[in-house]
Formats: sequence, structure tokens, C-alpha cells
Amino acid sequence: MTNVHPAVISVGEATCGMCGAGAVVQWCRRLTAAEFAAHLATVKEARSRDRADRATSVDLELWPTSVDVTMAVRACADHAISLEAAAQIHSADCPAPHQDHLPACGCRPEPVPVLETPSAAEAVLPPSWSANSLPTA
Ligand SMILES: [Zn+2]
Ligand SMILES: [Zn+2]
Repeated sequence: MTNVHPAVISVGEATCGMCGAGAVVQWCRRLTAAEFAAHLATVKEARSRDRADRATSVDLELWPTSVDVTMAVRACADHAISLEAAAQIHSADCPAPHQDHLPACGCRPEPVPVLETPSAAEAVLPPSWSANSLPTA
């Protein structure tokens, strides 16, 4: 997996959200406002504990925002959404896995993020750093 995803929060056992059987697949959805508030509270508590340990009181840290985190949704083989849909990030109120919608999910997922990877061709290197000038001996 080379995709950079937002932090995924894992909640509970790895069981299917529809039937409770053992989960075999998972995908991500956004957190509801209440879930995000709970997550932020957990992060703040953990960080304040950490700061106490380090005996520092300066708070220069950035807090996560709702676009930084997603929730893991799991399903068994019978209630899995399509692989294509599972690659996307779903809305906080996505009903999947729900058998009324399968293999679709019931929401309009966010498009798969396109990762911007700097191309080596665009980088301007000093002349002596080019691949052609590597020592051959
Ligand atoms: Zn199931
Ligand atoms: Zn969805």
C-alpha cells in the first residue's frame, strides 16, 4: 500500500457492520461530528498527558481536523461493497455495509485522491549531480 490515506481510526472488533460475522474487507468513511469530537478529545487528552511527561507547557501543535481522519468500516465477504467503491472515502452517513445497496454503498464517495509525486524529470540538479556524471570505476 503506497497510498497516503488520512489517519484511520479503528473502532471495535473486526466484524462485519451488517451481520457481525468476521470481517474480511475494510474501507474508510468520514467521521460524524460526534465521532470527530470524541476523537479530538482523545487526542487532546493523550497529548496533554504526553506534555506533562515532558514537562513542557507550550502548545504549538496542530490539532487534527475532520479531513485528517477517517473511520474504518468492515464487512464480511457477503456484505462487502465493490472493490472500486472500497478504494474511495465514504461520507460520514454512508449506510454501507447495508444489503439494500450492495455492491454499491448508498452514498456518493469522495473521488480517490490523486497523489502528486514530483517527477524526477522536473527536478533541476546541479550539473555534477546528473546520473551521467556518476563515477564508473
Ligand atoms: Zn456480513
Ligand atoms: Zn459510501
